[in-house]
Amino acid sequence: MPPIARIEPLTTARAVRGPFDYLLPERLSAARVGSLLAIPFAGREVLGVVVGLADSSDVPPEKLAEPRELIEPGIPAELVELAGWIADEYCSTPARALGLVLPPGAGRAVRRRVQVRRVLVAEATDAARVALGQCDALADGDTPAAANGHRAGAVRLTERQRTVLERLLAEGALPATKTGADHGGLRRLAERGLLVLEPREQRRRPLHRSIGARSAGPPPLTDEQRAALAPVLAALERIAAAAVPAATTPPPAPAELRFLLHGVTGSGKTEVYLQAAAAALAAGRGVIVLVPEIALAPQTVARFQARFGDTVAVLHSQLGQGERYDEWTALARGEARVCVGPRSAVFAPVAELGLVIVDEEHEPAYKHEGDPRYDARRVAARRAHEAGAVLLSGSATPRPESVHVLRRLRLTQRVDGRPLPPVEVLDMRDARHPLHLVTREALADVRRGGRKAIVLVNRRGWSNFLSCRACGHVWTCPQCDVALVLHRGERAVTCHHCGHREGVPSACSSCGSVSVARHGAGTERIEQELLDALGDPGFPITRLDADTAATKGGIVRALERFDQAPAGVLVGTQIVAKGHDFPDVTLGVVLDADGTLRFPDFRAEERTFALVAQLGGRAGRGEGAGRVLVQTLSPDAPSIAAAARHDSDGFLAGELARREALSYPPFASLIRIVCSAEKAADAEAAALALRDRIAPPGASVLGPAPLFRLRGRERSQLLVKATQRRTAVAAVAAAVDAVARSPVGRRANLSVDVDPQ
Ligand code: ADP
Ligand code: ZN
Ligand code: ZN
Repeated sequence: MPPIARIEPLTTARAVRGPFDYLLPERLSAARVGSLLAIPFAGREVLGVVVGLADSSDVPPEKLAEPRELIEPGIPAELVELAGWIADEYCSTPARALGLVLPPGAGRAVRRRVQVRRVLVAEATDAARVALGQCDALADGDTPAAANGHRAGAVRLTERQRTVLERLLAEGALPATKTGADHGGLRRLAERGLLVLEPREQRRRPLHRSIGARSAGPPPLTDEQRAALAPVLAALERIAAAAVPAATTPPPAPAELRFLLHGVTGSGKTEVYLQAAAAALAAGRGVIVLVPEIALAPQTVARFQARFGDTVAVLHSQLGQGERYDEWTALARGEARVCVGPRSAVFAPVAELGLVIVDEEHEPAYKHEGDPRYDARRVAARRAHEAGAVLLSGSATPRPESVHVLRRLRLTQRVDGRPLPPVEVLDMRDARHPLHLVTREALADVRRGGRKAIVLVNRRGWSNFLSCRACGHVWTCPQCDVALVLHRGERAVTCHHCGHREGVPSACSSCGSVSVARHGAGTERIEQELLDALGDPGFPITRLDADTAATKGGIVRALERFDQAPAGVLVGTQIVAKGHDFPDVTLGVVLDADGTLRFPDFRAEERTFALVAQLGGRAGRGEGAGRVLVQTLSPDAPSIAAAARHDSDGFLAGELARREALSYPPFASLIRIVCSAEKAADAEAAALALRDRIAPPGASVLGPAPLFRLRGRERSQLLVKATQRRTAVAAVAAAVDAVARSPVGRRANLSVDVDPQ
C-alpha cells in the first residue's frame, strides 16, 4: 500500500484543523516532510505542506485523495517543526505558521511565479590549461601515450583566444558577456573542447550600499572583546565536539549555549559577532544574524559581507522577489552559509546551524504584529536549541528578561577608549519654547565648531493635537478615539493609527471659532525651529521619520546625506538613535524623553532608559567630546536618572525587582486578548465570556478593560498573567476556540497576543 502523507493545507481559515491524510502515488514518492504539494482541498487546488509520513491512515484508502504535483523547492524539515511550535506558542494555526517558513514566491497561489535566472557561462576546460602550457600533461596516472596525444595535437591559438582562455583559467567560469570574446569566438573554442559554453543558474545578488563601512580585515581584539568572545568560542567548540559521530562528550546543556553580550555603545559588539561567526563557519556550521530592521543596519550587513563575501545572503522584504528567491535557494543549497536579515530571517533555510546572533536584542521590531504574533528573539532561542546551536544576543541596553536568563558577557569600555558622554537632564516643566535654552546654546556651539548633532523627537508631524481656544473641542479621528496630528507640509491633519486624513481646520466644527490652538511639537515643527535658528547651506538640517523615509531607500538616503555633510543636524523619531556609527557627532538631544513613560505599559521605563542610553551612544564617537541633553517633564523618573548616570546595572536590578514584585515578565508570561466589535457591548460581552472560561492554574485574568476605538471598532481587552506559560496558552487557545463558535463570540473578533509589546 502506498504511503500516506499528512498534509497541512495552507488556508488562513481558523476553523480548518489539519493535517489531512493523502495517498502518495509512485510518481510523488520523493515527497518528504517539508515538501510542498498541490492538493485538492474543499473543491479547490491549494498548496499543502507535508508535516508527516505514515504507513496507514484512519481514513479508508478509497476515500483518500492524491496530491497532484510536487512543487520545488520544499521547506527544510526542521522549519516545519519550528512552525508547529510557533502555532502552539502564539495561539495561531499550523497553516499560518507554515506561511512564515515558505520559500519566497510560494504562497496560496499554487504555481510558483519566480523564475530562475540563467545566463550563458563560459568555463575553460583542462584541455585549455594544457594548450596554454599551464599544466604538465604528464600528470600522475597519465600514460605516456596519452601525454603524447596531447602534444601531438598541439593547439594553435590566436593572441585574442589565448587572452580569453587565460582570463577564464585565472578567474573561473564567467558569463559569456564578460569574457571579452564574442559569441562566435566562444562557440569555436567550445567546439575545439577548450571551453564549455552553457546556460547556468545565476544568483541575483542584492547590492548593499554601505554607509561608512570601514576596513574589512579583522582588527586585533581589545582585551574585553577577547574575554567576551572566549566563552562563545568554547561553546562552539563543545557543540562541534558533541556533533562528531560517536562523540564521547555529551552535548552541552542549552543554558550553557546562550549568551548576552551586554556592551556599551561603541564597545565593538559587531566585531565579537564577526569573529564568533568566523569560528562557526570554520567548524562547518551555518550562521543567522538578526538585525532589528535592515534599513537601519546597513553597516552591520556591509561588515558581514565585507568579511565573508558571497557566503553571506541577505533576506528581507525590500528585495525583489527574484533576488529573495535566489538568496533563499543559495542558503538552502549550502552555497551561502550566513544569513543576515530582520526578524523573518530567523526562518532562513540555513543547514547545520551553529550560531544565531540577535543584534540590538532590546528592539521591539523583533516582535511580529500580524498573526502569528511571534517574537523572533524567542523563536531564535528555540531554533538554536533545536539545532544544538549557540545563541548570542547583544545590546547596550538589554531587556531585563534577557539579563535574567542568558549568561552575560560584558564590554564596559568603548573601543576608542573614550568615556561615555555626560548626560544633562533639562527640566521642561516651566518651559515656553520646545527647545530649552541650554539646548539652543549647545546647538549653536555645534554649528560654530562645524560639528554634528542628533535631535530625537518622539513624534512626527507638526503638533500632537489641535484644540479650539473658545470651547475646548479637540479634533479627533472619526474612526479611532485619538487626536489628529497636524502635518503642515502636507496641509492635513492625520490619524497615526488608521491613516485617516482631512484638511487643516480653519474654524471649530462645534462653535465656529477661528481660534485653533496647536499643542506639542513633532519632528516637522522642530525641523523648522532648527532651520530658522541654525540652518544654512553649510549646516544642513536633515529630517528622518516615517514621513521622509516613506519611499524605498529613503532612510538610507537621509543617513548618507547626514554622514557625508561636513556638519549639520539630524532630527527625527527613534530611528535616529539606532545603531548608526557617525564618528563626528558631538551632541545628542532627546526632547520629551518621558513621552514614552506616559503610556500605560510595564515596558515604559525600559524603553525610556534605552532611548536615552542609545542616543548617548551616538555622540562622541570620534574626535571631540560628546554631550547629551535630555529634555523632560519628569526629571526624577528613575529610568531617566539611571540613564543620566550610565547606570545600566542599577537600572536593570531595579527593573527586575519591580517586575518580580508585580509578576511581570520574566517572572510571569503575559497574554493579551483583544475583542473588537462594532458595538462596545458586543466587544465587552465576548471578553466577559472569555474571562469566565480561562482558569489555568497559577494565572490571573485582568479585565475586561475598554481600549480606545480603533478603525471604527470598539475594543475590550483581557490580560492574562501566568506563571505556567504552556498551560496558560493552551487554556487561552481553547477558550478562544469555544467562544469564537458561540453566538457572543460570533459578534466579535478575537485576537490573542502572547508576550505583547
Ligand atoms: P557597538 O556595536 O558595540 O556599538 P561597533 O561594533 O559599532 O560597536 O564598534 C565601534 C567601532 O569600533 C566600529 O567602527 C568598529 O569598526 C571599531 N572596532 C571594533 N572593534 C575594534 C577593535 N578591536 N579594534 C579597532 N577598532 C574596532
Ligand atoms: Zn470651539
Ligand atoms: Zn484613525
